[in-house]
Amino acid sequence: MTLKTSTLGYPRLGEHREWKFLIESYWAGNITQEELLDKTKELRLSFLKKQADAGLDLIPVGDFSLYDHILDLSLQFNIIPKRFKDRDITLDLYFDIARGNKDHVASAMKKWFNTNYHYIVPEFNNVKPQLTHNRLLDLYSEAKDIIGDKAKPVIVGPLTYVSLASGVDDFTATVKKLLPLYKQIFKEFTQAGANYIQVDEPIFVTDEGASLLEAAKCVYAYFAEEVPEAKLIFQTYFEGLISKELAELPVAAFGLDFVHGLEDNLKLIHEGYFKDKVVFAGVIDGRNVWASDLTATSSLITDIQDKVKEVILQPSCSLLHVPVTKQNETSLDPVLKNGLAFADEKLVELTILAQGTSHPLYAQHVADFEALQAADFRNVNLEDISSVKTERTAYSKRAKIQDDRFKLPTLPTTTIGSFPQSAEVRRTRLAWKRGDITDQDYENFIQAEIARWIKIQEDLDIDVLVHGEFERVDMVEFFGQKLAGFTTTQLGWVQSYGSRAVKPPIIFGDVKHIQPLTVKETVYAQSLTNRPVKGMLTGPITIVNWSFERTDISRGDLFNQIGLAIKDEIKLLEEAGIGIIQVDEAALREGLPLRKAKQQAYLDDAVVSFRLATSSVKDETQIHTHMCYSKFDEIIDTIRQLDADVISIETSRSHGDIIQSFETNNYPLGIGLGVYDIHSPRVPTTQEITTNILRPLQHLSAKQFWVNPDCGLKTRKEPETVAALEHLVAATKEVRAKLG
Ligand code: GLN
Ligand code: ZN
Repeated sequence: MTLKTSTLGYPRLGEHREWKFLIESYWAGNITQEELLDKTKELRLSFLKKQADAGLDLIPVGDFSLYDHILDLSLQFNIIPKRFKDRDITLDLYFDIARGNKDHVASAMKKWFNTNYHYIVPEFNNVKPQLTHNRLLDLYSEAKDIIGDKAKPVIVGPLTYVSLASGVDDFTATVKKLLPLYKQIFKEFTQAGANYIQVDEPIFVTDEGASLLEAAKCVYAYFAEEVPEAKLIFQTYFEGLISKELAELPVAAFGLDFVHGLEDNLKLIHEGYFKDKVVFAGVIDGRNVWASDLTATSSLITDIQDKVKEVILQPSCSLLHVPVTKQNETSLDPVLKNGLAFADEKLVELTILAQGTSHPLYAQHVADFEALQAADFRNVNLEDISSVKTERTAYSKRAKIQDDRFKLPTLPTTTIGSFPQSAEVRRTRLAWKRGDITDQDYENFIQAEIARWIKIQEDLDIDVLVHGEFERVDMVEFFGQKLAGFTTTQLGWVQSYGSRAVKPPIIFGDVKHIQPLTVKETVYAQSLTNRPVKGMLTGPITIVNWSFERTDISRGDLFNQIGLAIKDEIKLLEEAGIGIIQVDEAALREGLPLRKAKQQAYLDDAVVSFRLATSSVKDETQIHTHMCYSKFDEIIDTIRQLDADVISIETSRSHGDIIQSFETNNYPLGIGLGVYDIHSPRVPTTQEITTNILRPLQHLSAKQFWVNPDCGLKTRKEPETVAALEHLVAATKEVRAKLG
């Protein structure tokens, strides 16, 4: 018997990022609002049709958005930040909340659980929720005309929604205010003919969810009582359910992740908690690009089927987190390409799994999967790491040697790596990629840009310089293009936030350092100045977290392979005379597993790989790392264990609170204070920067501090960058003078 199939969400971007370009054209004033709405409607309907044509039985409606689905919900509930309050609810208000305007700052943006998608944080602050307009119902009616009964409304549930919000004083009271609104939405859906309604409650896979069990019981009992006709799917993803008690909720069905939450969820299934329930089983990885192992997945499905009332197949989570289709990729190795499944290919996999071995494509897919596993490039060749150093000379000793070598002033100034990627930089790179200019022309251009910025930095009187990263579009893709074991795609884009998309490289085989990655540019920059130029590398954890990783070896092994490759690059830089090398771990914290129980193992692996990369250097070589966030409390021990000579961090937006995490005698290493926020075009005053420098100095010794912006300056414009750095240097000099 063929099983039913469903999806939880579909990518918004479009095969060629049409969605992004439409929205950006609207922002630039190149198309009208009407055109934007018409064209994005066409896209939205084409996505529905595509899923219906693929044979899916239940297709999400309401997952589409013009920026972010959480922001959509906030507007629908009238949860509008106070500073925007006096305006009508229009599309322009919506974009202003998301992006800020000349009068008001944007709402905060936060990572969607452990993904690289960012949502707009709802701001409650006593705003009274009310249903402004049931936008979801409009979308449902529109979808029904095209895909009929297959349309399945999707909405983020009240407990997850409020958990993600800011300005919530009383959690329970806030949820209570929203319940009648949800009730009305559910009522209107069912009246309009909706069958299942997907209610996303991923908060119930996190540790925080454990404290919300009573709330969940009340909320879902309320819905069962007030709208018994609504068939709700209690949908979770990214991990297993946090508690078996949730299985008792009075809902029509449960959506469970059997990829990222396999162990926990399967255990509950085996223990019989779902024996008379409908289970939407997430058996296909919605977050990675690999084709499924159909044989193993089929037996998993049989296993689940035996112990529940009905199984409906779906991906583990929304397909928002993977690229649209592999069909347009023309340069991938055929064996590799056959082993990949982006969103559209995952739809096909679902229908194959639903029918089983009798499906005409089943055998071919199994053969493709096996061919990939058998490919030469898949052979796992793990280097013996036991002979690689993971321990440096004691910090106190090497710090002295480094002080003697660099003779830097108190509070040395530096930047995080990148300088503005001007329109000219982007234009020239494009011309080079298209073949309009030669490799030599491009190289000359990059060198000229490096030289120009070395001069600017010297004129500013910055102490430790950087080359500026003009040759890199992206700090991970750049390394992906040069290391063995990686491939990059042409159109493998994934939404990161708003109209911003990233194109993560794919790690398909053993990672190896096969050519210098950064030596040419760094050494050139160093040749132009007597001040130290800091080499700039991306660390192993960040590379993995911002790539599509292979899953046939352990994460720890993968981290280590990349750590060794970075070690090789560090050696080349060191041999070429580069004395300071920064290894960025911008994504270390975001990769932290959702569950406490899994965090330590991840952090331990991270430390090993970082130390593999950085411990083989000489005592006189100074290792920096950078992390662009401030919440370090939970990972401060790990940060210490990385044993980097200097870590640069964000401190400006957190108003120096961060220093508390470091405020113990056991953080003796160097700390680079991110003294101004680079995410805003605003130029900070010297006074502000002085305050930001002085604040932590009340508690900690000036000797351990460096002064720097809080992240790379790639997205900023040149004049504001130079002005801000001028103030940074002036403020530092002021403080130095004060310290005497
Ligand atoms: N070195 C990188 C840069 O300056 C760091 C970027 C980041 O932390 N995200 O761009
Ligand atoms: Zn950063």
